[in-house]
Amino acid sequence: MLLGRIFMQHISCIRRTQLSYLQIRLSCRFGSTSAIGNEAKVDSEEDFAYADVPRPGPKWQRKPYPTPMKVLIRRAKREKKARQENPCRVLEHAPENGLLVPDLIEVAHQVYNARESLRQGLLKLVDGEEAIPVKKCRFCSEVHIGQLGHEIRSCEGPKCGSRSSNHVWRRGGISDVVGFPYCYHLYDRVGKPRVGHKERFGVKRLPAIVELCIQAGLDLEDYPTKRRTKPVYSIEGRIVDFEPGGQKCIYRK
Ligand SMILES: [Zn+2]
Repeated sequence: MLLGRIFMQHISCIRRTQLSYLQIRLSCRFGSTSAIGNEAKVDSEEDFAYADVPRPGPKWQRKPYPTPMKVLIRRAKREKKARQENPCRVLEHAPENGLLVPDLIEVAHQVYNARESLRQGLLKLVDGEEAIPVKKCRFCSEVHIGQLGHEIRSCEGPKCGSRSSNHVWRRGGISDVVGFPYCYHLYDRVGKPRVGHKERFGVKRLPAIVELCIQAGLDLEDYPTKRRTKPVYSIEGRIVDFEPGGQKCIYRK
């Protein structure tokens, strides 16, 4: 009997301790002290309100890396050792060695011609005398082909709430129908593959599709680019270019 009473007192003491801990957490979370004192409510809701965020499981349950870390470390060590044994190596594969891929040169010309053909066709369709009208919303990316823009209230642009999500139509152009993103032109894609922030105003920009064709083998007068006849070398990770004239250039990546 006495043992039973002591046991019950012990249990109630543990429950009180747990409740006060929960109350402190509640007041911290919501910045309110009103919850303290409402023990019955807390007791009934504790299972739902205080479910802890699940902890990361043991190692054997975690999702493994696509390539195990041990394999990556082993590979890096092997590459480092090979670099130390043979610091100067010829980069054999195009385009990383600065040469062109022969099969892609023709493709580059085809893509460029197709883009020009597309552009000429669009000029007639969108900007010609008997052009078909193109409408573009001022505030979002919605486009409509026709004399009058549609009245569907689907605008998500700035202040669309004050317009009841109505689009505000203006005349559109070719770039609204087919968008070609722009990028910076590289003169030497292997020797100097990065454009620094300070160079941003001195480097020409052009449609990325044209730059893609240039780097694949298309030559354009307005965008000169360096063409090599010999592959570049990699000496301790740095690109070294042996020009036909015997001149050696070292580029730091
Ligand atoms: Zn809109």
